[in-house]
Amino acid sequence: MARKFFVGGNWKMNGTLDSGKKLVAALQEAKLDPNTEVVVAPPALHLLFVKELLAKDSKIEVSGQNAYHKVSGAFTGEVSVSQLQDAGVPWVILGHSERRTIFKETDQDIAEKTKAALDHNLKVIVCVGETLEEREANKSIDVVVRQLNAAAPSVADWNKVVVAYEPVWAIGTGKVATAEQAQEVHAAIRKWAAEKVSKEVSDSLRIIYGGSVAAKNCRELAQQPDIDGFLVGGASLKPEFADICNARL
Ligand code: PEP
Repeated sequence: MARKFFVGGNWKMNGTLDSGKKLVAALQEAKLDPNTEVVVAPPALHLLFVKELLAKDSKIEVSGQNAYHKVSGAFTGEVSVSQLQDAGVPWVILGHSERRTIFKETDQDIAEKTKAALDHNLKVIVCVGETLEEREANKSIDVVVRQLNAAAPSVADWNKVVVAYEPVWAIGTGKVATAEQAQEVHAAIRKWAAEKVSKEVSDSLRIIYGGSVAAKNCRELAQQPDIDGFLVGGASLKPEFADICNARL
């Protein structure tokens, strides 16, 4: 089964309403590959504004960058999965390495969030990836499998999940994984899905790469058999994001 190429833009805690408006205008003007699914994740405060602007071009969807698993309550500063659902936000990124490292989210937290998000009909981009220390200790695949094993019991429908392999050492550093390094881990994730879930899920699961993806390196990565797209941070704030969306053209 052909897997639709997927490119997510993670704007992180960057920008203003005005810069968000300019990014949307640039995306609407760009000629994007109709065979690529494009999703942008603005800061929570800007989500509805960006969603409204994009509504004219319904092909691009929005995503939260995080969500809390409880529906409501005394959780100051959090946005809940049900609030994203209520606002018509179809996607959420969970387990980003910045959430894991800076905000100390554990595999268990991410499993709970994944379950809650899917229960609220959100589609989830689940991020996994090893640190530099773990890669140097030859533990990349062990770490990724541990993170996936923690999240897997939360997933009833894998069609609603995209797995983002994001080596921590490559995020925001300008050090992109080589196509061979990325392909090796992506193939291991697909093998894990075949063994742990099913052959059908393994064949259809989109596994995207994140970590210093840019216009200059996206094409080689996009040609790898198990790389089904990208999660893009820094370059999603620049005009080259459109080139990354078109990496398979
Ligand atoms: C990310 O934050 O998911 C990411 C991949 O960032 P960057 O592209 O800037 O490395």
